[in-house]
Amino acid sequence: MPRYEYRCRSCGTTFELNRPMAESSAPASCPEGHDDTVKLLSTVAVTGTAGSSGASAAAPPRPQGGGGGCCGGGCCG
Ligand SMILES: [Zn+2]
Repeated sequence: MPRYEYRCRSCGTTFELNRPMAESSAPASCPEGHDDTVKLLSTVAVTGTAGSSGASAAAPPRPQGGGGGCCGGGCCG
């Protein structure tokens, strides 16, 4: 369940609430009981972007060896 941060404009306290996303914009009362609160921008990373699942598993390109082959390494003669 995501956590949201709120700030009370009556007493200035900041508090956090764990609540469903559907209720993220619902009024929240501060611990002191005030109702004049605002929801702060949350830093909680919400996962679940529709459609994009799975990170790219593409292998990075192989580093090219200098010279190539075996010549130059001393194994050709
Ligand atoms: Zn308050």
